[in-house]
Amino acid sequence: MKVEATNWQQLDDYLKTDDRAVVPLGSTEQHAFLSLSVDSILSERVALEAAEPLGIPVFPAIPYGVTPYFLDYPGSISLRVETYVRLVRDILDSLKAQGFRRILLVNGHGGNQPAGSLAIEWMADNPGVAVKFHNWWNAPKTFAKVQEIDPVASHASWMENFPWTRLAGVVQPTQQKPMVDFARMRVMDPKAVRKLLGDGNFGGYYERPDEEMQAIWDVAVAETRELMEGPWS
Ligand SMILES: [Zn+2]
Repeated sequence: MKVEATNWQQLDDYLKTDDRAVVPLGSTEQHAFLSLSVDSILSERVALEAAEPLGIPVFPAIPYGVTPYFLDYPGSISLRVETYVRLVRDILDSLKAQGFRRILLVNGHGGNQPAGSLAIEWMADNPGVAVKFHNWWNAPKTFAKVQEIDPVASHASWMENFPWTRLAGVVQPTQQKPMVDFARMRVMDPKAVRKLLGDGNFGGYYERPDEEMQAIWDVAVAETRELMEGPWS
């Protein structure tokens, strides 16, 4: 149930029989030749498809996350960790006040990990409300499927290139990019990161056949749905 297409009365009715909610966590940041909104598009879509048969409301994806290393790339917006944690806390507080008791955060961006730490702290302060933090792309089954298809996969590579994150008219390079030196990149400032990464792909091919991407997607939707189903206590 897409919250965007729902009114408050419908949610009021829903809360009489269920108390689950899903909040996708996205980011607006460089993804090489793909959309700047890859992490928002994928987290929201996987959440919606997983929630659909269960009838659980899926809130709009938070479009901004924590991505300071990409700040030299136009269109990359980074919230401070402090801002981000406050934002997610306000969302959890609002949901709790209305009666939601089981909340799944479907995260699409590695830099948003502080929300996972916050969720653990918040639960201790709010007994009776369960919050799960789910990195959909590196959850065990989904990541195993990615590895089975091509172990050289990372940020902005083929593994984020779905028909729904690709841009019309943009041609993807055909070569396999060597994996970036993560140890060096982690200590670089944004300008140096851009110089090191160039187009922004961390490493790997830029595109793989749609059938392979659909196979990964199917696993990701099923795995995300399992988390919605339980256990919650
Ligand atoms: Zn991404």
